[in-house]
Amino acid sequence: MKAIRGAFLDFLDDPFYRDEREAVRYLPDGLLVIDGERIADFGPYGALAERHAKAHITAYPGRLILPGFIDTHVHYPQTEMIAAFGEHLLEWLAKYTFPTELKFRDKAYARSVADLFLDLLLQNGTTTAQVFTTTFAQSVDAFFEACGARNICMVAGLTGIDRPGAAPPDYLDTADSFYADSKDLIARWHMKGRNKYAITPRFALGSTREQLDRCGQLKREHPDAWVNTHMSENQKEVAEVAELFPEAKDYLNVYERAGIVGPKFTAGHAIHINDDAFRRLSSSKSAISFCPTSNLYLGSGLFMIHKAKSVETPVRVGVGTDMGAGDSFSLFTVLNNGYKVAKLQGQKLSAFKGLYLATMGGAKALMLDNEIGSFDPGKYADIVVLNPHSTLHLSFRAENAIIDSTLSTANQSFEQLRHDAFGMMMLGDERSVDATYVSGELLHPKAPASC
Ligand SMILES: [Zn+2]
Repeated sequence: MKAIRGAFLDFLDDPFYRDEREAVRYLPDGLLVIDGERIADFGPYGALAERHAKAHITAYPGRLILPGFIDTHVHYPQTEMIAAFGEHLLEWLAKYTFPTELKFRDKAYARSVADLFLDLLLQNGTTTAQVFTTTFAQSVDAFFEACGARNICMVAGLTGIDRPGAAPPDYLDTADSFYADSKDLIARWHMKGRNKYAITPRFALGSTREQLDRCGQLKREHPDAWVNTHMSENQKEVAEVAELFPEAKDYLNVYERAGIVGPKFTAGHAIHINDDAFRRLSSSKSAISFCPTSNLYLGSGLFMIHKAKSVETPVRVGVGTDMGAGDSFSLFTVLNNGYKVAKLQGQKLSAFKGLYLATMGGAKALMLDNEIGSFDPGKYADIVVLNPHSTLHLSFRAENAIIDSTLSTANQSFEQLRHDAFGMMMLGDERSVDATYVSGELLHPKAPASC
């Protein structure tokens, strides 16, 4: 057995609905015991040290240890096209995205990018993601093979687009080929090791009604599969969807009519939606992926997180980088932008709310909170070790926090935590990540090669 000692932070409850002091679990000197892939024990060091006297302990003094981050919306084939200049969604897809994704017909190329993508996630403390691939089945095989080599939990699937004109002809699939390829891929990868399969129509604008109906058929035949897509990202896209699907009352209803909305369904973006759509997403127990970096980058709009996390229409929400429409793999950067998107709407996204979205909130959004998202024993040991003093500026800021000296020692400690956590949320990036563990193994930084 091995163990990690240090300051731990995770969430016992949702700080959007609960007093933050009660929602946060903070152990300034904790011990997390790992048996194989999973967490065997967790608690204050003083209470557990004797029981685990034989465990090999790695200590991280001065660090803050969280459950691994969860990116609920990201495109692995777009790793190379990050920071593409100048366009809104539909023009950006045509000019940059499809030419890039065509390269993924070559499985060896796909595997090389999948390996790089996963290394970049780990460098940023992300241990689970919901991932778009391409229309080529071999790009899905390459991705899951790379995941298997790391024993990492990823949700991904063949990303269908069959509407003539929506993409170059040699990028399009068909409703039938998408169905057949998805069936094969589900048989090959779904729930094998830590892999999870998501039925993935790219977006309503890219799919014919026949392809969306095939998605519904796949979901009926594989009810435990995930469903991942985009929704209501861009106003021009929303208008075109309304023209193509006149029978649907709104964008969400296109997916409802296909039979794919419900638990395990994630709508990426959901920016331009009304109260009725929030109500239906809430009552169907669907999830939204909030991707503020991408939404600002492409000029798509401001997601109304206060409506998604309201008491009236609570929706499960995770955060997503949406790389390469986002311009960073860091969920700190996403939360930084999320703070500003909320602020432009008169809202305040606190550090604890942000870190909740990046950990337990993401796990709940993906219906994976039984295996990841917190330090509860039995869950996988997916862990990120953060350095609140990773840059000169962060260090200076942390040391000069103005904390009310009349507070009790415990309360002062909590206020320092709040200060440091918000500093990392606004100023942190991959430099803040000291170490990332997946299934109990240290995968970042990589061990030096022995000579
Ligand atoms: Zn996307």
